[in-house]
Amino acid sequence: MFSIFPTTKVHIPNQEFDYIIVGGGICGLAVENRLSKLSNIIVAIIEASGEVENNPNVTVIENFLKAIGTQIDWQYLILYISGKALGGSSTIMKGTNYVRAEQAQIDSWETIGNQGWNWESLFPYYKKSEHFDAPTTAQFAARATFLTSTFERDANVREDAARVYYYPIQNRSNLRVFLNTTDRSNSYLDARKDVIVSAASLRSPAVLELSGIGNPLYGFPFLFKRRENLQDQPNTALGVAPNTTFNGTMEYVTYSSVSYFFGNMPHLDTDSLALQVSKAVNNSVSSSALKTLFGIQYSLLSQGVPDAETAIDTTIQYDSGPSAVLSSASFVLLPFSRWNVHIGFPGPLTYPILNPNYFLAEFDLDVQIGTQPIGNARNEIYSGFAPAPAPATNQQWGECIKSAFTANYHPPGTTSMMPKESGGVVDNRLKVYGAANVLVVDASIFSF
Ligand SMILES: Cc1cc2nc3c(=O)[nH]c(=O)nc-3n(C[C@H](O)[C@H](O)[C@H](O)COP(=O)(O)OP(=O)(O)OC[C@H]3O[C@@H](n4cnc5c(N)ncnc54)[C@H](O)[C@@H]3O)c2cc1C
Repeated sequence: MFSIFPTTKVHIPNQEFDYIIVGGGICGLAVENRLSKLSNIIVAIIEASGEVENNPNVTVIENFLKAIGTQIDWQYLILYISGKALGGSSTIMKGTNYVRAEQAQIDSWETIGNQGWNWESLFPYYKKSEHFDAPTTAQFAARATFLTSTFERDANVREDAARVYYYPIQNRSNLRVFLNTTDRSNSYLDARKDVIVSAASLRSPAVLELSGIGNPLYGFPFLFKRRENLQDQPNTALGVAPNTTFNGTMEYVTYSSVSYFFGNMPHLDTDSLALQVSKAVNNSVSSSALKTLFGIQYSLLSQGVPDAETAIDTTIQYDSGPSAVLSSASFVLLPFSRWNVHIGFPGPLTYPILNPNYFLAEFDLDVQIGTQPIGNARNEIYSGFAPAPAPATNQQWGECIKSAFTANYHPPGTTSMMPKESGGVVDNRLKVYGAANVLVVDASIFSF
């Protein structure tokens, strides 16, 4: 890869690698673990930050709020949280919720043109990456229940990606990790085979753009026009204060389909939505390509693929002790709104600039309104969260949501795996179109 910001670079001597992975997050570390199993290849990981194996804000599940805004959070603008540590966003991942995608969702990857990416071919890899510990007898006696979660039962710690994919194999002789690389931005390494970009949805496109793969609107010498397809899931939290003090945890998560909360599948005019969204993303994806994608997305929702996740927690889960407050967070899982993210000036260390478009598609707002079951208990909503009046109309709920929602920090789509003519950035081998040996392997390749 080359840089569009020429500076004097220092080659790190006597270091030759077959593969260089940029970003030691969930995906980068999984790839590192599997590649370095082959003893005849040499792998390097470049991670912008450091190790956090003994950081209690990472290991203790209730400490999650304490990690936000610390040095392990990139703290992007518009208050966007993203993990900055070996282990990536899994080190700051509050929910620790783990659930497989629906079969229809995975099969849709093939429908949009990625040959070989379907449930049947991916299912063995789901199983390979999963491990389940049932509660112990003592935990059952204490009324433990089942919830799929990234948590190590016996050690009683949150299981981040480094704990699973890196620490156990860190002594492999064919593996080299470069940490805190933002402090060494004038050094470079050579890859004999591939460079694998795995810097997460907001950063991988920035790495590509800094290497000349981006949108000509931003004035650089581009290999081709990078498509703008970023999505995030608007998340609305509500507090409820019944007349009970909650002394324990309440691990509750539910996934609902659109027809469940609307009673039927509402119509979506994909023609006008595609025109509207194409304009909003600077025509970097054509309206006809978007219409096809939206049609597939709508069909998934019509088949009952969930479009809303709702979690309910007690304050114990935030290390705030017992209280009478329950908090609920509901977010849209497959939003139709699209935004963009681009590099900021003047160079590689500046943060990417996010241009959010929450609720560009009204359908997303309707889904948020439909998923406020706690609205039925509106007289219990305690003040401070700008409650909707009782009884609230849909319009009042909409206004309340727009004033109170936050980001959900689950942003796919910035280097989508799709045919180039549909707006794709990588092909079905994860290779960046137009580049010889650059791949992207992270959450940014999901098209929706
Ligand atoms: C607060 C929060 C809660 C979440 N809760 C859940 C949940 O409960 N369940 C769930 O399934 N998902 C959850 N997620 C989402 C999940 O964490 C992400 O989908 C996942 O981490 C994406 O993996 P990734 O490998 O693409 O990126 P990441 O895991 O974020 O890894 C990217 C890595 O690249 C590094 N990096 C960035 N730029 C550079 C650079 N230029 N050079 C070198 N390194 C770089 C970063 O420091 C980071 O370590 C949550 C996310 C957040 C932020």
